[in-house]
Amino acid sequence: MEVIQSFTIDHTHLKPGIYVSRQDKGFTTFDLRITEPNKEPAVAPAAMHSMEHLMATWFRNSSVKDDVVYVGPMGCLTGMYIVMTGEYSVEDMRELTIQCLSWILSQESVPATTPETCGNYLLHDLPMCQWESRRYRERLQHDFHSEYATLQVTLEEGMVFADA
Ligand SMILES: [Zn+2]
Repeated sequence: MEVIQSFTIDHTHLKPGIYVSRQDKGFTTFDLRITEPNKEPAVAPAAMHSMEHLMATWFRNSSVKDDVVYVGPMGCLTGMYIVMTGEYSVEDMRELTIQCLSWILSQESVPATTPETCGNYLLHDLPMCQWESRRYRERLQHDFHSEYATLQVTLEEGMVFADA
């Protein structure tokens, strides 16, 4: 797999899809872009929280569970990060994510939504999470994007912008 250096992404030309944002220290960070940033509404916090529980549960029980390092939402609420060890391509992650989203669409509850298992157990919205999952699956199947447009941003001498 080609090594991609840390770079800054132009969010004004960013379509929903799956992108590699970092490859370092043996880990690959996949950006699962669910919505088009700043052009359509971001995922609502409760729906994103449910998606985190469901997606993490699916990936951590899947055939690739031993290589899953981290699953968590982007602070901007437009997507999810999945950090993997091992060799995975964007195409591999596309197939896995489609399976994951199909499983989410079949669920009738969100796992681990008690005060003992979640830091904000009332902040969940399964119907809206499934609405987002259905649309994202559709996009992964029929309107897939995986090439980031890069942008040079300099903050201060010797400092680079990072959002993850
Ligand atoms: Zn939680």
